[in-house]
Parts: sequence; C-alpha cells; structure tokens
Amino acid sequence: MDERLFEKIEKLKQQRNAVILAHNYQPGEIQDIADFCGDSLGLSIKAAQTDAELIVFCGVQFMAETAAILSPEKTVLLPDKSAGCPMADMITAEQLRELKQQHTDALVVCYVNSSAEVKAESDYCCTSANAVDVVESLPKDRSIIFVPDQHLGRFAADRTSRDLVLWPGYCATHIVITEEDIKNAKAKYPETVVMAHPECTEPVKKISDQILSTSQMLRYAKKSEAKQFIVATEIGIIHTLKKQNPNTEFIAANDRAICPNMKKITLEKIIWSLEDMQYKVMIPEEIRIKAKKAIDRMVEILPVE
Ligand code: SF4
Repeated sequence: MDERLFEKIEKLKQQRNAVILAHNYQPGEIQDIADFCGDSLGLSIKAAQTDAELIVFCGVQFMAETAAILSPEKTVLLPDKSAGCPMADMITAEQLRELKQQHTDALVVCYVNSSAEVKAESDYCCTSANAVDVVESLPKDRSIIFVPDQHLGRFAADRTSRDLVLWPGYCATHIVITEEDIKNAKAKYPETVVMAHPECTEPVKKISDQILSTSQMLRYAKKSEAKQFIVATEIGIIHTLKKQNPNTEFIAANDRAICPNMKKITLEKIIWSLEDMQYKVMIPEEIRIKAKKAIDRMVEILPVE
C-alpha cells in the first residue's frame, strides 16, 4: 500500500471526524485502510453507533443509502457516484407498486440490496443471512412478495416451504459462477469445503456444502477445522478470509466473479471524497422514514448478527 495515501487518508479522517466503511467485496487495500469491514447492513448499524459525523462508504449506492437511512444526523459519502448495483436497479418503486396492486394481500420483503425508494414500499427488509428467518416469521395466511433477487428469494422459499412471488432480479456477478465450476473444483480438490452465497444460482447452491452470507462465510471459516475452501461469491472476500486464516487455502470458484461497481472505489477517490465532501447521499425524509420502518421491522423480529 502507498504509505503517503494512507497517511493522507488518516489525517483527513481525523480532521473530518469520519469513519470509513468497506464492504467485504472491496479491493484489498480499501478493506485494509477501513475502520470497519463487513456486510452492508452490519456496517451501517456499526457506523450509526459511532460518534463520527461523516461516513465514507466504500461500496455501492444502496449501501451508502442504507447508512444514510440509519444515520440521518451524519453525512454519508460515496466516493464514486457511479458505483451502483445492477441488481438493486432491476426494480423501481413504481414497478413494486404495480406488483403490490396485483397481490393486494401480500406482505413485501425486500433484500437490503435495493434502493431506498424500494425499501420504502416494503414491509420488511432482509439480508442474505436472515432472509430465511424473516420469511419464516411472517404469518402463514399472508402471501409474500420477495424483491429483487430471485435466487435469494428461491432459497428462502425452499427452506421455508413457502410460495413466494419472486421478482426476476439477479446479481450479474454471482451468476457467472456455474455448476460446472463447482463440479470441477470438487473433482480437483476432493477434500475441500464449498461455501456459496445465496445469490448464486440454484444448481450451484445444490452441490455446495454451505450456503452462507459474506459475514457467515468469515465466521464459518474461522471456526472450521477445514484447511481448504472453494469460495463461490465475489472474489474480494478472499482477501479478508486469507488475512484472518493465514494457514488456510481459499480458492475462488470462478475468478471472473468480480463486481465491477465494487472495484470503482480507489484510495485516491477516498481522499477526494474527504477533501471535497463528495458525493453526498441524499434521501428525502419521507422516503427515509418509510425505508427505516422496513429495516426496523426486520431488526425487531431478528436482531442483525
Ligand atoms: S456483487 Fe452483485 S449484488 Fe453486490 S453490488 Fe455487485 S452487482 Fe450488486
């Protein structure tokens, strides 16, 4: 890492009373300089609990929005305003309102990977770690709309034996990982443990050993006695897995599973962000309050790990 850039970031951080958050899919050097690394909701909750006045979110738009929803008194910056999430953009609030009109009795569960407007139209938010539990907790006599990720939705539907109305969204990075990749990896490394993210396709999940969110993968690898893992998610997480478990081998299921939006953040952009206070995440208060309700309802039934 360039020490000069690191020192500059540290100095600016103190001047601005800022905290830097990095998602598990960020480039390694960004994870290394961050105050907290983790998944989007866990990071937003942690940031809300600090005394920092400024949050620099190294991730994508919906993550910075989630931090802003939970910390209205803080300023939230996204160092690259073009860092979006194609999956979150696959459904708009308007499209969700139309879907709700077709299923007037349904409760809406939205994956945290969604815009603030979509969260505001939803009853419950969920993460990849708790989607199954959130769906399980809902009244059996109500139908459920699940947006935007069809793969996480199908996983929750299978595990709870409930019929969900699924939106056909998907993560373009996770669907790069194929059943063939897992079969090949298993043939090459017969003793390995395959950890797959719920955003992977159903055939991939079916032949994986563990279906885990990013935070769950980090915890599982720490506790496990296995010394080799195939990792079926965005490859950025391998940086932290290796750092936390230096004697364990982590192999990407597919080394093209790279989210281009997550890689838009650089050390230089963090410096510009802190210097020029850009790019501020602004959410209209009425949307923020409604979106926060969906997150609060999730936390009421299931505290976030
Ligand atoms: S990895 Fe997938 S879900 Fe995550 S930000 Fe990138 S496109 Fe969105």
